Amino acid sequence: MENCLFCKIAGGKEDSDTVYKDENVVAIRDINPQAPIHFLIIPRKHIPTLMDIEGRDKELMGSVFTVAKKLAEENDLEMSGFRVVVNCGSGAGQSVFHIHFHMLGGRPMKWPPG
Ligand code: 5GP
Ligand code: ZN
Repeated sequence: MENCLFCKIAGGKEDSDTVYKDENVVAIRDINPQAPIHFLIIPRKHIPTLMDIEGRDKELMGSVFTVAKKLAEENDLEMSGFRVVVNCGSGAGQSVFHIHFHMLGGRPMKWPPG
């Protein structure tokens, strides 16, 4: 979609520090990291928010977690733990309206999150 930052990043039209890519999903380092490891796992398909997921996106959503597992293995996060978060809507802090999954690790995580 035109004028969508994450569509541009997924399409290679905008610079990013890419840590994973396949035909359906890309993962990049967050420009403003909230933990020593902070990746954004981004489905290439333009889905604005979690509330816009459709039945046909089931497999795509599942593949996001396969990518998270792979990135956890590559970054030695299995033992220390990590968190995968989706902010849905501006009230939850979503600022880019192309669905993405924050993957945070490398420091202890508190619960509940702020
Ligand atoms: P949200 O606030 O929508 O849940 O998350 C958007 C995330 O995208 C934020 O953590 C923000 O730091 C990150 N972000 C915004 N612009 C860019 C960019 O141009 N490049 C990268 N790598 N991350 C970005
Ligand atoms: Zn988009």
